[in-house]
Amino acid sequence: MSNLFYQGRGRKPVLDQARGVYMWDTDGKRYLDGSSGAMVCNIGHSNPSVLAAMQRQMEKSTFGYRLHFETEASEALAGRVAGLMPPHLTRVFFVSGGSEAVESGMKMARQYALATGQGSRWKVISRQPSYHGCTLGALAVTGYASLSDPFAPMMRPMPKVPAPRAYLDGLDPEDEATGLHYADMLEAQIRAEGPETVLAFLLEPVGGASTGALVPPAGYMRRIREICDQYGVLLIMDEVMTGAGRTGRFLGCEHWDTRPDIVVMSKGLGAGYMPLGAMIADERLVEPVLDAGGFAHGFTYAGNPLACAAGLAVVEEIEAQGLCANAAEMGEKLIARLHGLMQKYEIIGDVRGKGLLTAFEFMSDRNSKAPLPREIGAYQRFVDIAYERGLIVYSRRTHDGYSGDHILVCPPLIVTEAHLDEIIDGLDRSLEQFTQ
Ligand code: PMP
Repeated sequence: MSNLFYQGRGRKPVLDQARGVYMWDTDGKRYLDGSSGAMVCNIGHSNPSVLAAMQRQMEKSTFGYRLHFETEASEALAGRVAGLMPPHLTRVFFVSGGSEAVESGMKMARQYALATGQGSRWKVISRQPSYHGCTLGALAVTGYASLSDPFAPMMRPMPKVPAPRAYLDGLDPEDEATGLHYADMLEAQIRAEGPETVLAFLLEPVGGASTGALVPPAGYMRRIREICDQYGVLLIMDEVMTGAGRTGRFLGCEHWDTRPDIVVMSKGLGAGYMPLGAMIADERLVEPVLDAGGFAHGFTYAGNPLACAAGLAVVEEIEAQGLCANAAEMGEKLIARLHGLMQKYEIIGDVRGKGLLTAFEFMSDRNSKAPLPREIGAYQRFVDIAYERGLIVYSRRTHDGYSGDHILVCPPLIVTEAHLDEIIDGLDRSLEQFTQ
């Protein structure tokens, strides 16, 4: 028996090596990493430039506490990241992961409200379903009842509005009226809560783990910004999964006419080389907080030079290799190929995505959009079959009465068409076995 435990008792194969889009276990079996870990390893495994940059940094220093030293690496990465943001997002605060980034964004918003005489604002509205992290603060805004309900007495669950899942509600995602329909629900919620109590609206531009690559309907992103402006509500964009090129732009929200006040990132920024995240805020928010005595928040490992050196090299690779453009191009091809599988397999009820954040969803009936019976445990069964065949895909089922059983196909952004062939072939064979 191992001393280690994560979720259950099951043991996984032991990872030996990883290079590019492939991983090998200690038995020598090869896997194609069709999920980039958990949408983390955007530039692929063992990138030599990143490893060299980390080696150079390790030889200089591996830690300097942020209240004692700035480091060249953290300064350089902050500058690089700010340069990739919309122009008003200039101030960068480093953390070590996605939940920390989400909490930092919420606390920045709250401290801005306190610093500017808006202390009545504290509610962060988010969406149902959604996933924003597993710490108690991030769970309060996570719309995923089975994860958050057990801890509700220990935190303060925040209000939720429905995620714009037009495909389940029988609405046309290309029709602006659809986007406005879901945005209206945000406005109604703000009014019901009392606008003077609402601090922020938190969302992913393209839904990740909880909604399976959910692309917002036309008009939605523009309208939610207007509503936030109208009621003095801040817009926090959770780019933990969508950021760092995953959707074909550096930030997912760049696809739409919207302007976040705060962006939070993680996963693809450290790209699996080091734990790293960032909260990037409008200086209009940061300055009053600093004037009022400083941002009362921070983590010991935040901004450590090794993580920042890795992050800087990752961002440089994304730019040097044109990985945003590759994600856009390969993503389009992947979605077209997934549509091909949908024609072949009746059990696939929907295909969606943006860039290389793509998914298909199992349904028992395409017309009624009825999910597969939960007892089948479809997503886990499918993931296990693919894994057995050496293809890693990522999956979740929402456990709160919503549909689910979506399979996310999110390979590293360095994929070629030959890799796509391999992924589609693996999915095809796995689907064949799954539907037998
Ligand atoms: N936000 C989003 C959108 C995520 O997908 C995740 C992780 N899946 C998180 C936040 C939390 O990140 P972490 O697991 O690094 O704390």
